[in-house]
Amino acid sequence: MKKLFVLVVILSGLFFTACEKDNFKPQEDELITGYSNTGNKRTCGMDAKMKILLSDPVYKAQHERKLKMINSIIGLREFNSDTIILPMAVHFEQVSNPDIECLRALAKSQIAVLNEDYGGTNEDISKWQNIAGNTFPGINNGKAHFKFCLATKNHPDGYGLEDGDIAVTVNKVTGENSSDWSGYINIFVIPNTGVLGYSPLGGSGNGDGVVIDATAFGKGQGCGSIFPKEPYNLGRTLTHELGHYLLLDHIWGGGCGIDDDVTDTPDAEQEYYGCPEIGVASCGSTDMFMNYMDYVNDACMFMFSEGQVTRSSNYISTSLQNIVNNAAKVCGETTTEATCSDGIQNGQETGVDCGGPDCIPCGNSGSSCDQTPIELEFVLDDYGSDITWELLDEEGVVLYEGGDYPDFQSGEVVQDSFCLAYGCYTLIVEDLFEDGLCCEYGEGSFSLSIDGYEFVQSDGEFGANEIIEFCIGEEDGEESASISKRVISPRVPAKIEAARIAKKR
Ligand SMILES: [Zn+2]
Repeated sequence: MKKLFVLVVILSGLFFTACEKDNFKPQEDELITGYSNTGNKRTCGMDAKMKILLSDPVYKAQHERKLKMINSIIGLREFNSDTIILPMAVHFEQVSNPDIECLRALAKSQIAVLNEDYGGTNEDISKWQNIAGNTFPGINNGKAHFKFCLATKNHPDGYGLEDGDIAVTVNKVTGENSSDWSGYINIFVIPNTGVLGYSPLGGSGNGDGVVIDATAFGKGQGCGSIFPKEPYNLGRTLTHELGHYLLLDHIWGGGCGIDDDVTDTPDAEQEYYGCPEIGVASCGSTDMFMNYMDYVNDACMFMFSEGQVTRSSNYISTSLQNIVNNAAKVCGETTTEATCSDGIQNGQETGVDCGGPDCIPCGNSGSSCDQTPIELEFVLDDYGSDITWELLDEEGVVLYEGGDYPDFQSGEVVQDSFCLAYGCYTLIVEDLFEDGLCCEYGEGSFSLSIDGYEFVQSDGEFGANEIIEFCIGEEDGEESASISKRVISPRVPAKIEAARIAKKR
């Protein structure tokens, strides 16, 4: 069986270039045996895209660092809130005679597929449930607790979009990047790409996104020249490509013994096409070709593993915070009121719980502070995106928080200030990568000051975090501050982490 498979793949490879866009419907016997011997094969351009991106040494260093960080996380990292919303925008390019209503409906059909496939609520998940126990004992399918939303408000200017419109543009964007749409996962639907789609392995949320061929986007009848064509007509090309964006590799890795960095996906020799028979095996184990990260037809892929969903969740929580943070601003109902206290930017707030007519001004400056103004100043290293901080009161309630900051701004100074009543507080500065602000990637540091006097100076060599407990009050008629405790931890102490998790629930 295996030999036959390899042989057919080699033979089909000969036709690959010439026929890859042919509209050939697999014959029934091919569906049964699973060996597509035509050029009608799934073609994903992720590897080619990565080859280009990795030729930039800065990108390469950053990418390797991301991989190292994600691979070092065991299990699921805690999110800051229960449901993570990831804003999306869909850009149709080179469309002649566009039917905008039709294209909007097509985009909605695609986002619905993504939410079903990632949430494990797709109708055909039953196929997995029927085979899992016998064929893949001990492996569970993944159910993401993040969701995708087509943005609905506060759209970038210049696209003719109003609050309440969904973020679908037609012939307004060219190429595969739009910095106007930073903070979104962008989907660029482009005709004649030569492949079904491609994405960077690990997206950045800086206006980048996923490219999908106009014949593999969405579900249903389609709109003129943009129509989902069999056998890639169920919206799963984007499920697959978005997996790449969220740092999932192809399930076969690079062959036997070359892992996809996901522990619960079986080792596999190579990709599958068409619709193979359940039970096919390679590298000494049954192959999970029905995984979205393989190359089979849309109708024959129907699951992610739990490990894949965990990996993508960890990637989102560590590397796509800019997209997560943008959700409150651009997703959801357009009529929300400013709450000033829920940790979400809503209503007319201009920052999280601040600004606008209803809430306190953002970045409380000394002039508007009727208590004691405290300045927090960071000198960044190369990886500002690792740094976050929280200021807690004596009850452990977070009063202020900040970060992360831009990468590759070593030496840049960023300042924040808060307005505090006399009392005692805790400042926690965390580094996600556990290497502090100094010194391997630049000479970063931070300080706290009161009225220009620095009462806390950190050299940034703190590893995972630095915790400073301090009190402010009055001494001889003047405002004063003193440090009561200072702890530097190479790793987040379990006690703090537990308290934080409890608080977040
Ligand atoms: Zn791929």
